[in-house]
Amino acid sequence: MADTTTPGIAAGRESRDALKANFADLHAPYAPHEAAVAADRCYFCYDAPCVTACPTGIDIPLFIRQIATGTSEAAAKTIFEQNILGGMCARVCPTEDLCEEACVREAAEGKPVEIGRLQRHATDRLMAREGHPFVRAKTTGKRIAVVGAGPAGLAAAHRLAMLGSDVTLFDARKKAGGLNEFGIAAYKSTDDFAAREVDWLLGIGGIEVKTGQSLGVDLTLDGLLSEFDAVFLAVGLGGVNNLSLDGEEKSGVSDAVDFIENLRQVSDLASLPVGRDVVVIGGGMTAVDAAIQSKLLGARQVTIAYRGGRDRMSASAYEQDLAASKGVQLLFNVKPLAMHNGEIELAYTDGSDEVLRLPADQVFKAIGQTLVTDAGLALDGRKIAVDAYGRTSRDGVWAGGDCASGGNDLTVTAVAEGRDAAMDIHATLMGGK
Ligand SMILES: Cc1cc2nc3c(=O)[nH]c(=O)nc-3n(C[C@H](O)[C@H](O)[C@H](O)COP(=O)(O)OP(=O)(O)OC[C@H]3O[C@@H](n4cnc5c(N)ncnc54)[C@H](O)[C@@H]3O)c2cc1C
Ligand code: SF4
Repeated sequence: MADTTTPGIAAGRESRDALKANFADLHAPYAPHEAAVAADRCYFCYDAPCVTACPTGIDIPLFIRQIATGTSEAAAKTIFEQNILGGMCARVCPTEDLCEEACVREAAEGKPVEIGRLQRHATDRLMAREGHPFVRAKTTGKRIAVVGAGPAGLAAAHRLAMLGSDVTLFDARKKAGGLNEFGIAAYKSTDDFAAREVDWLLGIGGIEVKTGQSLGVDLTLDGLLSEFDAVFLAVGLGGVNNLSLDGEEKSGVSDAVDFIENLRQVSDLASLPVGRDVVVIGGGMTAVDAAIQSKLLGARQVTIAYRGGRDRMSASAYEQDLAASKGVQLLFNVKPLAMHNGEIELAYTDGSDEVLRLPADQVFKAIGQTLVTDAGLALDGRKIAVDAYGRTSRDGVWAGGDCASGGNDLTVTAVAEGRDAAMDIHATLMGGK
């Protein structure tokens, strides 16, 4: 938690009206005629490169054609068949690095078909209807434990329930949703969308959610394996890398993920304290999100300090530009040394002896997340080792999403891995493989 007693960290820097405007939907939804115009730009390519670029392999030309022919709900079904969290992915996917980067109209004209916004248009329409679009297959008689109710766990639970198994979905927190609920920037998931999506997804039936249940504290792998036919682990990366700065105690230094989690859960943004001069250490999506949201809360000066050059930042060029457009300053090739009475001291990483000091009454560390529990499984680097089917070193145990090896720590990849592991669990339990 931030030390909010530090002078310079204060709540209510912006009026409630200003905050409402600042945290509004990043991309407003299409009006129906706008969706029709956007869909008309698609060439409906054969062997479409946008499909190959989508980690969940959604049939993009098909769903866009369905929108173009006025059947948006059928389009949504096409999306959900591959990606049951297609609503969230439409809001958070870095489409500029995935489907839209691959779109032939991007190569030809530098202006891709707006696949993400079209996906949102279709999924929003179907989700606004009563009922759930899929029905469960006849029961398999199998019971499966899914641990972690983020995108990977939710996707796996839904697929397994749809295939006819009974699923118990455990999560350590009080609320399901994982980083969709606690991490994604507030302006990407407005109007409590993450929670509404979880409720909608559970509409398939056959999934019992048990919150406040932590693997390693309340649950053990041995216990789960004695009670269930298979276990899918999707516990994400809940820990944060450590970086100690000299003098950081009582200097407003805290973890960016804690700040973002508070921001996502607070009912009144005007009550959330933020510094006047904020420095964020890191170069990934978490750093960018912490910086932008500090600025939107009313911080006067926000700087991202990253130890490498612009090209090494893991936040995409789009995210970097978004930060710059909100007034966030990006500082490259610097590393933090120490805190001094409301200032942060940084050294250049290019070999020079020069140091610089910036005013900083609040500093967020966003230098990467780590695995909290390995449950005794073999690791590959710092993640649970899995094969191409998501199988771990232990029979009956699969893993996917951020906690598992491979992947790229994106929501859509977690969904794909959850879905694919579920297919393999089902095939294995039914003796098909
Ligand atoms: C600040 C931030 C912003 C991001 N923004 C984007 C974005 O804009 N677009 C994008 O594509 N990706 C983004 N990501 C990445 C994306 O959120 C993750 O890749 C994705 O959520 C991974 O899903 P997951 O299901 O593997 O894990 P998580 O979403 O982390 O879910 C893991 C779940 O497991 C639970 N859990 C943990 N330990 C235990 C335990 N021991 N026992 C029981 N339950 C446990 C947790 O409570 C949590 O609910 C962002 C990440 C962060 C941190
Ligand atoms: S690559 Fe672009 S134009 Fe071709 S099918 Fe995909 S979205 Fe349509």
